[in-house]
Amino acid sequence: MTEATTQQERRTAAPPAGTWPVGFMFGVASSSYQVEGAAAEDGRTPSVWDTFAARPGAVADASDGSVACDFYHRVAEDVALLAGLGADAYRFSIAWSRVMPAAGVVESRGLDFYERVVDTLLEAGIAPVVNLFHWDHPQWVEDLGGWRSRETAGRFGELADAVGRRLGDRVAMWSTCNEMFEHFALGHVLGEHAPGLTLPLEEAAGVAHHLLLGHGTALAALRAVTTRPVIVINSYAPARPASGSEADAAVAGLYDVLQNRLFTDTLLYGEYPADLAPLFAPYVADGDLALISAPVDGIGVNYYTVNAVRAVEGPVPLEVVPPEGYERTPFGWAVVPEGLTEILTRLAADHGDALPPLYVTENGCSSASGTDDPDRVAYLSSHLDAVGAALAAGVDVRGYYVWTLMDNFEWAAGYTQRFGLVAVDRETLARTPRTSYGWYRDAIAAARR
Ligand code: BGC
Repeated sequence: MTEATTQQERRTAAPPAGTWPVGFMFGVASSSYQVEGAAAEDGRTPSVWDTFAARPGAVADASDGSVACDFYHRVAEDVALLAGLGADAYRFSIAWSRVMPAAGVVESRGLDFYERVVDTLLEAGIAPVVNLFHWDHPQWVEDLGGWRSRETAGRFGELADAVGRRLGDRVAMWSTCNEMFEHFALGHVLGEHAPGLTLPLEEAAGVAHHLLLGHGTALAALRAVTTRPVIVINSYAPARPASGSEADAAVAGLYDVLQNRLFTDTLLYGEYPADLAPLFAPYVADGDLALISAPVDGIGVNYYTVNAVRAVEGPVPLEVVPPEGYERTPFGWAVVPEGLTEILTRLAADHGDALPPLYVTENGCSSASGTDDPDRVAYLSSHLDAVGAALAAGVDVRGYYVWTLMDNFEWAAGYTQRFGLVAVDRETLARTPRTSYGWYRDAIAAARR
């Protein structure tokens, strides 16, 4: 056997049978704005992403999510694709402005749509996992101050109440928010995502606090109407200094706290990390931290890469770059599967008994391949192995969700970065399963043997 064949076999090998805990969920994840389309239908009003995408230069190919994958009209077809994979679960999110198109208004047609998604999934034997916030809050909420305002946390609680009451226990697992860190950093500090703000850190701290408060408020609202598990989803990436310089070591340390500890520690312990606490103090009111740190039933871990961090001059004193020495995806992200094992084992080591079960709620890569995508197969299989390594090390991981089912609106990259197990033709919206789709189907089947 040649070296190349061995590589190829290793890359396409399914995870070994019997190594996955009973009940481990293999799923696929997505988000509302990235797939739904139907932006002006059934009462939906614009979200911050509709507004932001219309800004010249905001999105690489000047596209938006007004049509996206047209999931809104293709639920049956897309659920059939999920069923063909043998997926245990499908994680999707709620477009807040579909359900609450204006202040104090609940749009029943919006809830009807999500009910249809949930029921179609259940009929196909797929567990619905519903995330309430994946970055697309209504423009009317932004006009009232968005996450700069504490009132937004209460409004988000109203969304949780409305969706929770309608879908209640038909949802297998709930999540409040996806990646508060990215929404805070990309949307409110760097201006690369909606709402496109470049706030100084002192003001952006208010955004982070109100997001956490929104999580706590939504969690309480869900607890009042459903007994199903509720998790919160964070992004994690090891942060390494880009060079041996002291300046790079210092900013890598800062970035590590911001991405890997700020949200997690505050959720788990009800205290901001000591080094950052003074930034948040002006925003914290009595009772906030207790609400924020009410127990969750799991933490979602979204993992894509390892970051190198470099010190730079400017209002944001650091820059994130890919570490040297690794293969990169077309997005420029380093492929480092062992970083996923590192994150999972670190969370377990750092937090011990304070840590609820973990779910890898997103993992995947963009690829420039057509429908034959051996690079994605290699990425996914090595990362699934990395989850296996964390399990073998004793970490309580209960699920793995591929990002994502089909090529979709990749935020500021528009449709230029394709993450799908299924290719979507931008002209016809026809879906074509890729090699990686077949690989994941076989991997799920093998894990169950
Ligand atoms: C986000 C997804 C996004 C993916 C790839 C994650 O941070 O939750 O919405 O598509 O990364 O960029």
